[in-house]
Amino acid sequence: MPPELTAALALCRNLPSPPGIALRIIELAQDPEADITTAADIIAIDMALSARMLRIANSPLYASRRRIENLGQALTMLGLNATVTLALGFTVTQGLTAAGDGQDLRERAWRRSILSALAASLLGQARGLRKAEELMLAGLLQDIGILALAQTQPDTYLPLLRQAADNDALVALEREQLQCTHADVGAWITEEWGLPRYLVDSIARSESPVDGEDSFQACVALSGAVADIWLSADADAAREHALQQVHDTLGLDSAQFDQVLTRIGESLPDISALFETPLFSPSRVQQLIDHAQELATLRNLREVQDAALARQRADEFEARANRLAEQAHRDALTGVLNRRQLEAVLEQEFLRATRHGWPLSVAFIDLDDFKKINDAHGHLMGDQVLRMFASKLQEQLRNSDTVARFGGEEFIALLPNTTEPVALEVVRRVLANIVNTPMAEVPSGPLFVTFSAGVATQGGYERFADVQDLLKAADDVLYRSKNLGRNRVIARSPGTAPA
Ligand code: GH3
Ligand code: MG
Ligand code: MG
Repeated sequence: MPPELTAALALCRNLPSPPGIALRIIELAQDPEADITTAADIIAIDMALSARMLRIANSPLYASRRRIENLGQALTMLGLNATVTLALGFTVTQGLTAAGDGQDLRERAWRRSILSALAASLLGQARGLRKAEELMLAGLLQDIGILALAQTQPDTYLPLLRQAADNDALVALEREQLQCTHADVGAWITEEWGLPRYLVDSIARSESPVDGEDSFQACVALSGAVADIWLSADADAAREHALQQVHDTLGLDSAQFDQVLTRIGESLPDISALFETPLFSPSRVQQLIDHAQELATLRNLREVQDAALARQRADEFEARANRLAEQAHRDALTGVLNRRQLEAVLEQEFLRATRHGWPLSVAFIDLDDFKKINDAHGHLMGDQVLRMFASKLQEQLRNSDTVARFGGEEFIALLPNTTEPVALEVVRRVLANIVNTPMAEVPSGPLFVTFSAGVATQGGYERFADVQDLLKAADDVLYRSKNLGRNRVIARSPGTAPA
């Protein structure tokens, strides 16, 4: 493209630019992590776009036996790729046919684009290509350069457009007077917009000689000739001309080609309505019916969205309730389970252990001389020590074990499926680690603590009647370990020797 034209386009204020919703869809098209939920969230914001997606999903192009009732169904049926591609087509073209000079010429170019979109897609289908939506989008946008030039350079370009008898003549005039074609301009713009690479390339090559090896590109390049059957004054001659090329390049015979034309005709009312081309709309009465249907669809969508919103609110509420409940289960200072929750968990574990005969060990842990820490360094320092202790305790036990604050500087460790000798060993190992771990830093240096603990086990040496008995047994042993001089862990069973 000549640099002057590039500069003129780049500086042009009235160059069509994609609306906000299109930018989000473009982003989505570039995002390898995109999923259908994200696509649905973006599309649902734009009611008109939602209605269009719904309508195209119900159009003859996707002849589905069941009527698609809402946006979610539509997008699921289409799948992510088709959804994004179709949404791109609907959104990036918005504003391309705004009022202005040469309205008739621009509308004609737009009609050709829509016909080309259908032609490219249905030619591709006839050839067994699986890229229906990509073909539709490439067909739709291949002539975007015409609309851009008409909008930005009306004085130079509109006369060319008016003078050209057909597309070939237009391209010749463009080469002569602009030193480039509308295909070059279209590729430049779509690249600026950040549209997918295949699309930019396909538009760039849309006016080049057709290469039968690349079926995708051939369908796009031939789609204009097929569109001209609807636009040309001599439809028979246009059909002959198009059939010739389609036969030579894509290998379709006359019967297959006529089938493509029939399908274009079937889909045209829906597709042209989707792209807001008034000249293709049927009678005024049909328009009114369409409008009423569209409104019903919109209302339907609104209900779907309301339901989605209500569900989202309920989810948020539930998440908040869960967070609050979680908080209600935790001790505010240390973050381990609080006493009330401990009782609930203990009750559960006790029942399970008793029923299945599994061992359940409980360690009653009490910090030694904690009062002295408060007295020497203040309550706030005491709090800090409690927090650090709780976190170190939790860290050294398994995830299946439970740590709870029983009160003050007293903690409980619950070890399900753990026999008394093993629990004793575990808690002793914890003590050995704790005594070497600074719990806080005070002016005189790091602050260390020791603890005393008593271990009792349900299902070992003794069978306790209930949780209270089990806890009391552990507390009794704790008392013994305090009496024996602190900084030790003792088990209840006589078989397990004191440390
Ligand atoms: P022993 O070795 O016999 O257990 O001596 P101790 O000083 O640890 O035991 P005692 O029961 O005499 O004192 C416990 C202290 O723990 C008294 C109380 O002020 C303190 N305490 C209880 N809860 C908290 C708390 O939440 N924060 C702080 N900083 N101190 C607490
Ligand atoms: Mg105490
Ligand atoms: Mg204590």
